[in-house]
Amino acid sequence: MAVSAIDWTGGSIIASNIPSPVWEGWKGRSVELGLRMECCGAIAIAKTSSNGSQFFAHISNECATAPETVWHIGAKALVVDGMRRLGAPCSDEVFEGGARPWKTDVLVQWAGRRIAIEIQRSYQHLRDFERRQQRYRDTDVECVWLLPRDAYHRLAKATGRVRLKEEFGGRFPASGSIGPCLRHLPVASLHNPERAEIVGAGLLRVTLEAWCRAILERQFQWSDGLWMIETDRS
Ligand SMILES: [Zn+2]
Repeated sequence: MAVSAIDWTGGSIIASNIPSPVWEGWKGRSVELGLRMECCGAIAIAKTSSNGSQFFAHISNECATAPETVWHIGAKALVVDGMRRLGAPCSDEVFEGGARPWKTDVLVQWAGRRIAIEIQRSYQHLRDFERRQQRYRDTDVECVWLLPRDAYHRLAKATGRVRLKEEFGGRFPASGSIGPCLRHLPVASLHNPERAEIVGAGLLRVTLEAWCRAILERQFQWSDGLWMIETDRS
């Protein structure tokens, strides 16, 4: 089950963007249409789930691609699609050389800003998040991290410990809890690319499109240890 596939032009398409009459017309014509799975290049077939959502599936049940990679592909396709729908020019797998080289999953260009969206599925130590974040800052690129559920929780645990130690002297405040996020490390979670929903600490829960818009409008902000969307807090 996948949110995106490669069409006959070689471009990535999102299942939910295809009008339903067109989608119905695609059923049973996969080989002829040349739709391919992004994970392994197998022929992709158009399917509709029992709750009515459109998705791509392998023509046979076999796929050797690791679930983490499938998550990464789906997340990237959704972010690129979300940004483009808002009119923000966006490219994937962008490399910049020079003294402080970086390579990002998604680079958005918007109103003179460059924003890297790092889709980090695999384990990475906090100091590596910070090192990479600094590298972007050094080249005037903003960077926002998007993680799967497990990685998000692991990072939040690590950053929460840092806040407790450095900002609260190792003692929990009277309220008993502290927001776990660091101001210099914007982060959110996409649990499942089949559902375009962004979640995070402090009850952040918005559509992927709302999150993309908040990033473009600088409304995705840090406050009291939480990366939240400003307008959602009222
Ligand atoms: Zn596959």
